[in-house]
Amino acid sequence: MNQISVLMTYPMFTNLEKLLEKHYNLLRLWELKDHEQEHFLKANADTIKAVVACAEAGINKKMINLLPRLEIVSTFSVGYDKIDLIKCRERGVKVTNTPDVVTEDVADLAIALALSTLRKICGADGFVRKGLWKMGDFCISTKLSGKSVGIVGLGRIGSAIAKRAEAFNCPVSYYSRSRKLNNDYKYYTNIIDLAANCQILFVACALTEETRYIINREVLDALGREGILINIGRGLHVEESELVSALLDGRLGGAGIDVFENEPDVPDQLFGLDNVVLLPHVGTSTMETCTEMADLVIKNLEAHFKNEPLLTPVL
Ligand code: NAP
Repeated sequence: MNQISVLMTYPMFTNLEKLLEKHYNLLRLWELKDHEQEHFLKANADTIKAVVACAEAGINKKMINLLPRLEIVSTFSVGYDKIDLIKCRERGVKVTNTPDVVTEDVADLAIALALSTLRKICGADGFVRKGLWKMGDFCISTKLSGKSVGIVGLGRIGSAIAKRAEAFNCPVSYYSRSRKLNNDYKYYTNIIDLAANCQILFVACALTEETRYIINREVLDALGREGILINIGRGLHVEESELVSALLDGRLGGAGIDVFENEPDVPDQLFGLDNVVLLPHVGTSTMETCTEMADLVIKNLEAHFKNEPLLTPVL
């Protein structure tokens, strides 16, 4: 398959690059300056049949238009909010993602964020490293076990968070577009009611036009001054300026955040707060999960070019 060029949009995982290089002519878009990219795509348009995208860099309408021989976009992520699905459908371009293999890691990280935020683990670690322990005890923190948990989006990751929350004796409730019949968790048809009736709110839904800024001032105020927001979904789920002002005003108890509106930019105001934990979008960043994701990307491409059924099709 060496005559097929695969365009990778972002440096997502070195082992995936190595695997792609074995089978295809791999083109690395991120190595080019912004103003060079259009010329590069036009120059390679005859051979680029596949794009490997990710949560950081997808493919928009303009890029799709520049690639007339594009057949498949295989994203190294479960979310496909940065891929123009309408244009892909219109052009007959297939799309695959990496569901299921990421679920455990992201749910683990969500719980880790809740624990770190409530128990002030990052602050306590800094306290020891800075030698402050010799001068007195670290401050009192807040308990996780038994706290009521609300989940926005009870899909694969949301359900895995719920399962973990149950192990901490946390009553679980959720909001999504439809009630799930395979569990006894309390279902809210309204996100404000969910936020008003839980102590820790996890955001785990897909990013769509409907869920953009689903966490706004009203939701944050409903969660309240003792409430904790954990976002492992996408940055655009949360109206970040409202989150910052709720935290600064003391209208929200704290936040654990893995994803931001303008990654890798994070609002400076958050850096000085000890009731937030800030992570650089590392939900799936374990060797084990990245290896499984890379494997799925490769297998989907192989299946496509052999005219076999795709393993994890989105389109
Ligand atoms: P999933 O199984 O498809 O679950 C998505 C959930 O979103 C569904 O339960 C769906 O429930 C809900 N949803 C969709 N539209 C909604 C709306 N308008 N209002 C409320 N809920 C809505 O996907 P998943 O595998 O759990 O992944 C979820 C998301 O996590 C991904 O899309 C991705 O953005 C994010 N993620 C982040 C990381 C990270 O590194 N931080 C890693 C992996 C994934 P209903 O259909 O019932 O509404």
